[in-house]
Amino acid sequence: MSAAAVGFWVLWSMSVLVLNCGSSSLKFALIDPVSRLTRLSGLAERLFEPEPSLSVRDAEKTVTKLEAQGHEAALQGVLAALEARGLSDVSSVGHRVVHGGERFKRSVRITPEVLAGIEACVPLAPLHNPANVLGIRGAMASFPNLEHVAVFDTAFHQTMPERAFRYAVPNDLYLEHGVRRYGFHGTSHAFVTAQAAKFLGVPLERSALISAHLGNGCSLAAVLNGRSVDCSMGLTPLEGLVMGTRSGDVDPGLHGFLQTQLGWSLEKITGVLNRESGLLGLSGLSNDCRELQEAAHNGHEGALLALEVFCYRLAKGIAAMSVALGKLDALIFTGGIGENSVFVRAKTLELLAVLGLHLDAPRNALAVAGKSGKISEDGRTVALVVPTNEELMIALETQEVLA
Ligand code: ADP
Repeated sequence: MSAAAVGFWVLWSMSVLVLNCGSSSLKFALIDPVSRLTRLSGLAERLFEPEPSLSVRDAEKTVTKLEAQGHEAALQGVLAALEARGLSDVSSVGHRVVHGGERFKRSVRITPEVLAGIEACVPLAPLHNPANVLGIRGAMASFPNLEHVAVFDTAFHQTMPERAFRYAVPNDLYLEHGVRRYGFHGTSHAFVTAQAAKFLGVPLERSALISAHLGNGCSLAAVLNGRSVDCSMGLTPLEGLVMGTRSGDVDPGLHGFLQTQLGWSLEKITGVLNRESGLLGLSGLSNDCRELQEAAHNGHEGALLALEVFCYRLAKGIAAMSVALGKLDALIFTGGIGENSVFVRAKTLELLAVLGLHLDAPRNALAVAGKSGKISEDGRTVALVVPTNEELMIALETQEVLA
């Protein structure tokens, strides 16, 4: 074997460390991009509380106390966990970055200029990008000899046409301050639409798909010929569908009403709309879909209402996305709710006969717990369940950027 071939094999036989840093947590996964298998994954939590911890999942789950607070200590914990299992053959690091603004239209190798660009997007994602930057800096210090790649939640949606991404507000707000729709969950929408095209046996570049990512955050994307042409999230991840604790769309006049009538500050209003609304606000019980289904089954009226509104708004959003496509090859359900809630999928499809969608109940009941499959009747518009894998997508993107 030539030296070049040996080098090639070494690069391809090693794994990508995928990092997803939140303000007080750090998720990691070590993925072999060739076999597409996750070799180790885990979560460091409560990073700024007195007892930060790291839980690592391989054959079983191990929880250890971290020695110090903050992202760097968490990364040291991850490093130690990898070493303890003989998994130090990391080839590169892929970072999930929430907001790339208009600057980043695809994944990029991280340089000092790129890092500055991610910091420049902080005003667009003040809750998320600072944590991503902290994670990147910490990881670059912990893995100084490796290449680092940033994979953006917003990048996939940068192909949206102006008619879809512009708000009807004065031009200057867009031109000078970047006020437009960006969209999020891009890695998930990209991953499941590519998988769906394979499943359907149609070339991705000639497909028309709607993807519904339904987890704690929920969003829709209209994907035409493999490119995002519309999505439900906007300037921030608050726009669009009803979510676990986020309201999704409300009347923009609501802010003024709450301020004048209740004397609420802007901080209070955004806090309530982000953290106390959605399924939680409507039900008065929980943001957790599974818990709400159980409560609704036992007659809890708030839980039933929350699920009704969730499914109605979801169906309405799906119908709206079809406008961007002109035709529909398939509707895809993914995310914790999309992959598991037989109830939400049935209730939503019930409302979408207008798009030719008709549920096949036995198939719907089978597509749970990581199983993909068709859940619609034969001969009708196709509805599919496709489990998402954002970590794998980040690993594949990282490998592609560095190739
Ligand atoms: P995140 O956006 O935080 O990654 P997930 O994609 O894991 O979240 O989705 C979490 C949601 O999935 C929760 O509302 C949870 O109740 C829901 N979920 C998970 N399993 C089921 C199930 N079997 N039935 C209904 N909902 C489920």
